[in-house]
Amino acid sequence: MTNPILSDWTTPFEIAPFAEISDDGFAPALEAALQAHADEINAIATNTRRASFANTIEALEAAGEALNKVLSVFFTVAGADSNPEREALQREFSPKLAAHFAAISSNKALFQRVDDLWAKRDTLKLTEEQDRVLMLTHRGFVRSGAALHGAKDARMQEIKARLASLGTAFTQNLLADERGWFMELTDDDLAGLPGFVVDAAHAAGREKGAKGPVVTLSRSLIVPFLQFSPRRDLREKAYRAWASRGANGGETDNRAIAAEILQLREERAKLLGYDSFAAFKLETEMARTPERVRDLLMQVWAPAKARAEADAEILTRMMQEDGVNGPLEPWDWRYYAAKRRKAEHDLDEAELKPYLQLERMIEAAFTCANRLFGLEFAPLDVPLYHPDCRAWEVTRRGKHVAVFIGDYFARGSKRSGAWCSAMRAQARFPKVQTPIVINVCNFAKGDPALLSYDDARTLFHEFGHALHQMLSDVTYDSISGTSVARDFVELPSQLYEHWLEVPEVLAEFATHAETGAPMPPQLLDKVLGAANFDQGFQTVEYVASALVDLAFHDGPAPADPMAKQAEVLAEIGMPHAIGMRHATPHFAHVFAGDGYSSGYYSYMWSEVMDADAFAAFEEAGGAFDPERAQALEDNILSKGGSKEAEDLYLAFRGRLPGVEALLKGRGLVDA
Ligand SMILES: [Zn+2]
Repeated sequence: MTNPILSDWTTPFEIAPFAEISDDGFAPALEAALQAHADEINAIATNTRRASFANTIEALEAAGEALNKVLSVFFTVAGADSNPEREALQREFSPKLAAHFAAISSNKALFQRVDDLWAKRDTLKLTEEQDRVLMLTHRGFVRSGAALHGAKDARMQEIKARLASLGTAFTQNLLADERGWFMELTDDDLAGLPGFVVDAAHAAGREKGAKGPVVTLSRSLIVPFLQFSPRRDLREKAYRAWASRGANGGETDNRAIAAEILQLREERAKLLGYDSFAAFKLETEMARTPERVRDLLMQVWAPAKARAEADAEILTRMMQEDGVNGPLEPWDWRYYAAKRRKAEHDLDEAELKPYLQLERMIEAAFTCANRLFGLEFAPLDVPLYHPDCRAWEVTRRGKHVAVFIGDYFARGSKRSGAWCSAMRAQARFPKVQTPIVINVCNFAKGDPALLSYDDARTLFHEFGHALHQMLSDVTYDSISGTSVARDFVELPSQLYEHWLEVPEVLAEFATHAETGAPMPPQLLDKVLGAANFDQGFQTVEYVASALVDLAFHDGPAPADPMAKQAEVLAEIGMPHAIGMRHATPHFAHVFAGDGYSSGYYSYMWSEVMDADAFAAFEEAGGAFDPERAQALEDNILSKGGSKEAEDLYLAFRGRLPGVEALLKGRGLVDA
């Protein structure tokens, strides 16, 4: 019998036939698909005909169809509906996949063909998109070291292997420090804490086998403890333990590991011919150069620091009124900020929730997409991998555009967080394929299901990613939809969040679950005001971390990263009572792997763009201005990675983004 994962899918829109797929089919399907892909790659690499765009680049694009099918089904269920068997499969698959793709990127014969094409690209008469795919393919090989030979090649392999094991050690040390520390509390120590913190402290105590409640270093427990515990001595003890994760001496100390990682990254970049690791990393990003990243961060830093210093004075006065003298310390900030928030924006989540029904928020996201892009959504009855999943057919003027799947509810088998992925990306080569896009969230079930304001934002955020996939209109899969630079990919998602805050959207869709009444304007004002609270602190702790990350990778690697960190903080005048969001010994974004190294800035970069892009609508005819919507689709949402991100943005906006809209949005300058 043929494996249903690998057979032709005769389901509506060729959605994976989940009902027929069983877990024991995954391993044999993966083996067969990996072998098929390896054979295809080998055939391309050993082709005796001269390299052409068709027999090399397009052949690479067309290869791996079976592998795509297996992986799209497997990773969908492994992330959203796992079980012990799927977890075991994931552990088995990940080294196999890593080895498979490493073998392709270090295939010298294959690279030779790509390199030949690259050398004569001006004579190939390629379309703009083909030229781009050739450039990206070639660049990908070169960046992974395929052009190196002999001793340099060998050294590159050594560095990569060493960096992988250092990254793992960094993560494990951090976990060990986080798990190893807890502080036992007496019932008296719990006084003043809200019920949910008390419950969490008891639950943590049971988990640690302690006699009573405890505080641990998990962000979800220590942050509310620092916000609400009136006991300054306990806050200090907890904060100091939290801030010194990865820097406690002994076997789990990460400081020497961080230093070695930075040295090896610099060596790796130099082997590839770059001045610094930051220059290497930023080459593929919209930002492009360390100077532009620093420039943007410093434009935000100055007003954020000014706001934080003004806030610090207010918080210091509140502390003195409590009878505490001396300077405001990092373990005081969150506590007095929470008190101030309560006094200034007394927002009751319980009062808000009945207005945010999941069904109505889905309707709101769809209606905005209809008004902006003319998309229509009709429920689609197909068997999916879990009964909670729902599907819609997405059409425009009667023409099929995509299938959209929503898997909204939390369950034990789902990993935490929220994400969007394409089970099938849009492409026209080697055949026309329309997208199948899924949004996975972790909302609480209920009758009706009610969301927090953060949940509603998440729903819009993930739907923004989905639009980027669904409206994609390119030829090649490898540059379709969200296949764009890391510092550009959050633009469509963060931009879409702005439509949730449009007063007419909330007036229509944020209606009370029982009475049907629209959300009162005063409540809406409170929601929006509370969202901007304490942005001086939040921006400062984030930007300081981003500047240190950049300084580590721009120029020679520091022999002593902690000294370098201190130097950067002194230079920018870090406020005394604010710590870095992630200090070096526990900066997992930067040291656990390569993902965000000299890339931690990218959250802020995207936010600058989404604020600036939404301002373009407001400056025109308002949130639903049809010309702006058309420009957004034509220049950004339909284009995937077919052009440089900067060119896409310029075409949409007519200029590069400025920081003004972000500073206003965060309340760091007066609106
Ligand atoms: Zn996102």
